[in-house]
Amino acid sequence: MKIGANVSIAKTGLLKAVEESISYRADTYMIYTRSNRGGAAKPIDTFHRDEAQAIMEQSGLSDPVVHLSYLVNLASQKTDTFEYGVMILTEEIQRVSYLGFKYIVMHPGSHVGTGTAAGIKRIAEGLNAILTGEEPLSICLETMAGDGSKVGNQLEEIAEIMALVKHREKLAVCIDTCHNYSAGYDIVNDFDGFLSRFDDTIGLDKLKVAHINDSKTPFDSHKDRHANIGRGSLGVDALLRIVRHPALAQIPLILETPGGLYRHEIALLRGETEELPPDAPSNGEEE
Ligand code: FE
Ligand code: FE
Ligand code: ZN
Repeated sequence: MKIGANVSIAKTGLLKAVEESISYRADTYMIYTRSNRGGAAKPIDTFHRDEAQAIMEQSGLSDPVVHLSYLVNLASQKTDTFEYGVMILTEEIQRVSYLGFKYIVMHPGSHVGTGTAAGIKRIAEGLNAILTGEEPLSICLETMAGDGSKVGNQLEEIAEIMALVKHREKLAVCIDTCHNYSAGYDIVNDFDGFLSRFDDTIGLDKLKVAHINDSKTPFDSHKDRHANIGRGSLGVDALLRIVRHPALAQIPLILETPGGLYRHEIALLRGETEELPPDAPSNGEEE
């Protein structure tokens, strides 16, 4: 099992991310290289790439992931929003290539009222404008929870985007346990069934990253509210089965849960402890 969490790059870039990951006894990690509030991105040559790489090798951290800014929406029909997304993702591919990471996770987008079919076409148009086939990394489309006007809630929608992209070999998929359960996939009772539908529609070779979150809202609720492991509608037993599934053994598993419990949640999912600290907070939200 290769497990880690969404960590900070404050001040020292990857040095901070790696230090935080080591404190959780993690095997991998995820970062955002820029603020989700917008503004200029921190220059990538200030991330201490080489020093961080040396520490990662010593401490057994591998397969780190970048999550693209939420401000990118390639499903938008508005020219300025769409072009901003094309620009930011193009730039992010350069930045992440410099870091030497293999995966950028992105939300496919929100169609904002124009419909899923139009959103799918627009996302593919954006990806076709960006991808050259020379990228040393994969863009992982994240499966969504069915909230708002999101595109990519159903596996078929992800498959349709991929089918319309010329350099499909540069695309992969990131699942998210909270999102999938909220979108109506019963991964608590039948994770194997979900994986076989994934295999039929997309191909399991495209599953490269998994976000591991419990959910504050019930099955099929079409809401995106992450809960701590064992404190939501999925529950610890189901999440243990999922993280131990052979199909997920080699890929980075990333926690995006609230409340600063990552160290305990990682121990729980590894089977090293039975429960989270009793006084730990159960509120807060992260996407
Ligand atoms: Fe996400
Ligand atoms: Fe996620
Ligand atoms: Zn989410």
